[in-house]
Amino acid sequence: MQMLINGEFIDSKEKIDVINPFNNEIIDHVPAGTPEDAKTAIDSAYYAKNEFQDFSARKVSESLARCAEDLFDYLEEFATLIAMETGKPINAALDEVKRSIDTIKLSSEESKRIYGETVPLDAGIGGKGFMAFTLKIPLGVVGAITPFNYPLNLAVHKIAPALAAKNTVVLKPSVLAPLTALKMAEIINSHFPDGVLNVVTGRGSIIGNELVNSEKIDKISFTGSVETGRMISQKAIMKKITLELGGNDPLIVLGDADLKKAVEGTIRGSYLYTGQVCIAVKRLIVDEEVAEDFVQMLIKETKKLRIGDPLSTKTDVGPLINENAAIVVERIVSNALDEGAELLQGGKRNGNFFEPTVLDQVKSGMKVVQDETFGPISPIIRVKGVEEAIKVANDTRYGLQASIFTENIHHALKAVGEIEAGSVMVNKQSTFRTDNMPFGGFKMSGMGKEGVKYAVDDMTRTKLAILNTR
Ligand code: NAD
Repeated sequence: MQMLINGEFIDSKEKIDVINPFNNEIIDHVPAGTPEDAKTAIDSAYYAKNEFQDFSARKVSESLARCAEDLFDYLEEFATLIAMETGKPINAALDEVKRSIDTIKLSSEESKRIYGETVPLDAGIGGKGFMAFTLKIPLGVVGAITPFNYPLNLAVHKIAPALAAKNTVVLKPSVLAPLTALKMAEIINSHFPDGVLNVVTGRGSIIGNELVNSEKIDKISFTGSVETGRMISQKAIMKKITLELGGNDPLIVLGDADLKKAVEGTIRGSYLYTGQVCIAVKRLIVDEEVAEDFVQMLIKETKKLRIGDPLSTKTDVGPLINENAAIVVERIVSNALDEGAELLQGGKRNGNFFEPTVLDQVKSGMKVVQDETFGPISPIIRVKGVEEAIKVANDTRYGLQASIFTENIHHALKAVGEIEAGSVMVNKQSTFRTDNMPFGGFKMSGMGKEGVKYAVDDMTRTKLAILNTR
């Protein structure tokens, strides 16, 4: 596929292979964009913004609605492409496309609700005799940088709110999985003027750098790892910035929990898309009182998972994004065993695949639960009571989402109040998101919120009008 710059699909001499993680076959190539390509894309977005800002909110809303309709028409094709470029099982890939349609529809609706407010200047000294109101106006150009794991919906979570607020966009998708974003760009480009959306493929350090350093870009919206996010936040001077970064989400199981629900939540939370999800359950904090029963039930359910071809509807767990990622997980597990963890289930790597793995007797300081493990691992930390469970849950530099399973309302409320995370779920695993909810972490997990209404608001500036009434 080719890059989209100023309404044209453009190739380059140097290409990057896009590889199917299931069989390591090359499925396509994308251009290895150059700094000049990135600059041209930024200029296109910069010059397109005047024409676009002249659009009525109604026209923007209708155009977005048409994008959602077109995406619905190609639902299966998009899901297949996601499964092929990421190794995500097809059922999860279908869910991602359905959610992307929803994200665009929500953005279409939100584009009609961008309100300012009146400001009572006479509440301040010297403000009598004036009428004042704010206007929510577009920022200008948004630079969007996205990771490999939700290549469509995470791109859409930046593009659709940006367009809803009449910004133009330059997107840099992950080189590991750039195809669905490019295919989506074809649809969006057919409903908006040239230059409103540009997509430049290429290496993060090259294309990302151009976006982050350009004075023509007003906001960087980034989703990816903490390491890249930190680098970006150091360089993005005088820009708005949203960072949606990694997670290390805890799932607490208290002595009074409904264990069946907690195990179901763990299976979904730890193994969805092979654990390569920012809000995957990455630490199981289980009360000693129920730990034995919980462990037995978890092993039984983990054994039922079917590992295989992502294109089969029977597959629960596919490959990791590449062999390197699987080797990293293998090392983390082996390190945990050296540190005293006990292997109860799984633990083996086969090429790009890693078995769903249950580790017991994990301690909070171990690397397997201190860093974000992007793989299908369930490390169990045994604790005594709600106080210790919350203390362990907070023993991390991350704070994306968290969950607690308990039938005791006081314990639930205590967890909601005391866990340092952007969202706390009660009797639902943290691997849960609707596309309208405010989403974004605390601590090293990020800055700012996405979720359509919140992203749209963050993609506007406030201008004040003051009228002298005397
Ligand atoms: P990554 O940080 O390696 O890459 C993300 C994007 O940044 C890619 O497009 C990459 O090319 C680009 N990039 C790399 N170096 C850059 C640089 N120097 N300047 C600008 N851009 C650069 O992340 P990944 O491996 O693709 O994705 C996995 C990570 O993303 C995990 O940590 C995961 O938790 C996180 N993530 C977070 C959320 C969230 O909403 N909080 C959602 C999904 C994934």
